[in-house]
Formats: sequence, structure tokens, C-alpha cells
Amino acid sequence: MAASVLKALCIGCGACTQMCPYGAITVQANQARIDTAKCDECEECVFACPNGAIIL
Ligand code: SF4
Ligand code: SF4
Repeated sequence: MAASVLKALCIGCGACTQMCPYGAITVQANQARIDTAKCDECEECVFACPNGAIIL
């Protein structure tokens, strides 16, 4: 399973987009969005998120 964003917890800070080695995350309207086709399940974004908003 690719990573997914818990919308209620995401504050759109963008920390995850910078950490993703595959460029799979974009932020639009203060919400992170993950391109599941690009996600390699590395978990970098899970550790990067200050709000616990990304799960695998
Ligand atoms: S798990 Fe890794 S590849 Fe997938 S979105 Fe997060 S940082 Fe990117
Ligand atoms: S790091 Fe977390 S709170 Fe920030 S944009 Fe990504 S998912 Fe949202």
C-alpha cells in the first residue's frame, strides 16, 4: 500500500514534499496529496510529518 494522508491532521506545511525521494507528494489548498503510482513506501514522509498525518 502507498502512503496516504489523514486529511483532518494535515496542515499543509510541506515538510513531506521536501523529504520524498520520489517526488510523489504535492500540496494543494493546504492539503498534501500523494501520487500512489510514484510512492515507493520508503516512509520518509511518515517521519517528516510534524502532525502524524501520513500513514502507511
Ligand atoms: S512513503 Fe516515501 S515514496 Fe511514498 S510518498 Fe512517502 S516519502 Fe514519498
Ligand atoms: S508534513 Fe504532514 S502536515 Fe505537512 S503537508 Fe505533509 S502531511 Fe501535511
